[in-house]
Amino acid sequence: MDGPVILSVDAVFALACRVLETAGLAAPQAEAVARVIAAAERDGCSNHGLHRLPGCVETVRSGRLAVAAVPDVRDETPALVRVDAGYGYAPLAFERGLPLLADKARHGGVAALVVTNCFHFSALWPEVEALAAEGLAGLALTPSHAWVAPAGGNRGLLGTNPIAFGWPRPDGHPYVFDFATSAVARSDLAHYRNEGRAIPEGWGVDRNGAPTTDAQAALDGAMLTFGGHKGSALATMVELLAGALIGERTSVESMAWDEGLKLAPCHGELILAFDPAVMAGGDAAPGVARAEALFAGFAAQGARLPSQRRYAARARSLADGVAVPRALHDRIAALAG
Ligand code: NDP
Repeated sequence: MDGPVILSVDAVFALACRVLETAGLAAPQAEAVARVIAAAERDGCSNHGLHRLPGCVETVRSGRLAVAAVPDVRDETPALVRVDAGYGYAPLAFERGLPLLADKARHGGVAALVVTNCFHFSALWPEVEALAAEGLAGLALTPSHAWVAPAGGNRGLLGTNPIAFGWPRPDGHPYVFDFATSAVARSDLAHYRNEGRAIPEGWGVDRNGAPTTDAQAALDGAMLTFGGHKGSALATMVELLAGALIGERTSVESMAWDEGLKLAPCHGELILAFDPAVMAGGDAAPGVARAEALFAGFAAQGARLPSQRRYAARARSLADGVAVPRALHDRIAALAG
């Protein structure tokens, strides 16, 4: 019986909730994190799925995360919602701030949601997808820990700093991309290390700042950004907009604050929302048509849109369930008590 365990998406959600609540996380916090985990498993994004639960549990048990944090939603200006996550996890803070953000974007055309004091666990695509479901275009940015060297540098200064963008479409799924500004996600380096494989050049440097193809040496040294100076500048923008601008920690500061405990990074997040009708001067239809013509151009060349793989995985998972490696399932089930 070595095959995977097949779980429905609802069962993944219930399992994740049970594990987090057993660890001591209050139900609203646990449910919001579990929604991200279940969505990630559903969409074939296992890097934010069940295998992250042991790390989430460690953060819960650390005593640093406020297990019963209730996000404080403040209507700060006509264009700005500020949510103090109160040292809880990020997903509940986002969920609580979303209705007011959407409302402000619909009235003003553009609005911002600033989240502060959150232990950040999440991919960002669920957030820009939630905005698209409200008919809004969106952009989400967050720093992380300073594992990434700037272009031309040789040691960690920037985070893996993901950027996600969503664009609502009239029929079907939104256009969404979401990626780290590092050449790869940090978990990919760990996979290569665990499998004893060499990493491609351009992913990392060792402790001395020398290019390396040894995954462990890159984990001990520093990761590199994608696209050389371009990724480096985008990662810096994330530090500035989702750190310095909103009065929150940069990746260097969040790493120092962690004091080597290797918990989820604790800092802020910036989410921007745009209403297509207001931005276009009252009528969204011409812009929507232009966007659809652009997307049709991809299909005409046989190119795929970002998230297409994810949406296909979603359809399969909803029909057939999610295959969870048995060893992972047993490890998680043990955490559920
Ligand atoms: P990937 O490089 O795996 O993919 C990023 C995006 O590119 C996805 O939207 C993907 O769509 C799309 N894509 C991939 N291949 C193609 C293709 N051939 N044509 C068109 N689009 C394509 O992402 P990363 O490894 O950099 O990041 C993974 C996740 O980790 C992200 O969700 C990110 O938010 C998260 N992350 C979170 C951090 C945090 O601190 N919270 C830190 C760093 C990363 P599809 O999914 O359909 O393949």
